[in-house]
Amino acid sequence: MKKHNFSAGPSILPTEVFEKASQAVIELEGTGLSILEMSHRSKEFVAIMERARALALELAGLTGKGYQALFLQGGASLHFYASALNLLERKGAYIDTGTWAHKAEVEAQFVGATEVIASSRENGYRNIPKEYVLPKDADYLHITTNNTIYGTEYFEYPKVSVPLVADMSSDIFSKEMPFDDFGLIYAGAQKNIGAVGTTLIIVCEDILGKVSHKIPTHLDYQVHIKNESMTNTPPTFAVYTCLLTMEWLKKQGGVAAIEVKNKEKARLLYEEVDRNPLFKGYADVKDRSRMNVVFNLVDESLSDRFNALWTEAGISGIKGHRSVGGYRASIYNALPIESVQLLIEVMQHFEKTV
Ligand SMILES: *Cc1c(COP(=O)(O)O)cnc(C)c1O
Repeated sequence: MKKHNFSAGPSILPTEVFEKASQAVIELEGTGLSILEMSHRSKEFVAIMERARALALELAGLTGKGYQALFLQGGASLHFYASALNLLERKGAYIDTGTWAHKAEVEAQFVGATEVIASSRENGYRNIPKEYVLPKDADYLHITTNNTIYGTEYFEYPKVSVPLVADMSSDIFSKEMPFDDFGLIYAGAQKNIGAVGTTLIIVCEDILGKVSHKIPTHLDYQVHIKNESMTNTPPTFAVYTCLLTMEWLKKQGGVAAIEVKNKEKARLLYEEVDRNPLFKGYADVKDRSRMNVVFNLVDESLSDRFNALWTEAGISGIKGHRSVGGYRASIYNALPIESVQLLIEVMQHFEKTV
């Protein structure tokens, strides 16, 4: 039986995407070829790439606004470095809200000077720092919009005079955002957009081409724009799953409609975490993520009993990240509300049995 999958990533995708993607592995609709054996230069795949790039911009409300969408490789982790390489001339400013945010800044140091202008590290990354001063020589400000490990999320974004750069790996397309306030967005596909193996880049063309150093071909976003995201063989299957997921999202009513569902899922689960005396939430209430709900047992010695209960109920993937411990329920776009309700029932049943 299919499990209720709360994995932080790779994570659940819509059932329809699993079905269509598996059919395409046998034969992509009417082509006589599997998606896995098809040339990336075939007209069928070129059309998939074009539709995926256009739909990413459409869902973000950025069509015709000077932005380009790319499906590259390397994961968000490579784009920590690549984003800095494309934008950093004098200094990159960073807000440190967790492990990924910190890693982004560390990788940018391979390019040039960086400055961490605010951090919630001292506080165990339980909140999003709101106070900071942007250095005069900053080329951009980098933020991590959702902190997958600690379960914090931005709901208001910095307003700055330099390009805002964001790692949106774990909350892209989960809600409405002022996408046009961002100069560069990158997101590993495997949380909310598709199969692992590709990274979505959305970039405002105006901000590129301003650095004086040379950029190696495959890390240069301008090269990928020129080549329509086909500088070399793109990860064809992963891109196809992104297209299917984005088409599913569009059918649901897009980011505005999914936001309503995501809000409700998060509300229900946090309500139980707060109500149930056996549990406590990790992050500060005002900055709590709607994608990753991080919580702990008040009495850790009960963990074996709780773990047995949720495992038996068919729940998978709620063990916390090794750096935080406890539990993390990732409730991305594709996770049905029924799975959240089941987890809540298990928590309530646990309360009665203790
Ligand atoms: C998962 C995650 C990453 C790492 O992504 P990779 O694609 O594995 O490199 C980076 N940032 C955030 C916010 C994440 O959630």
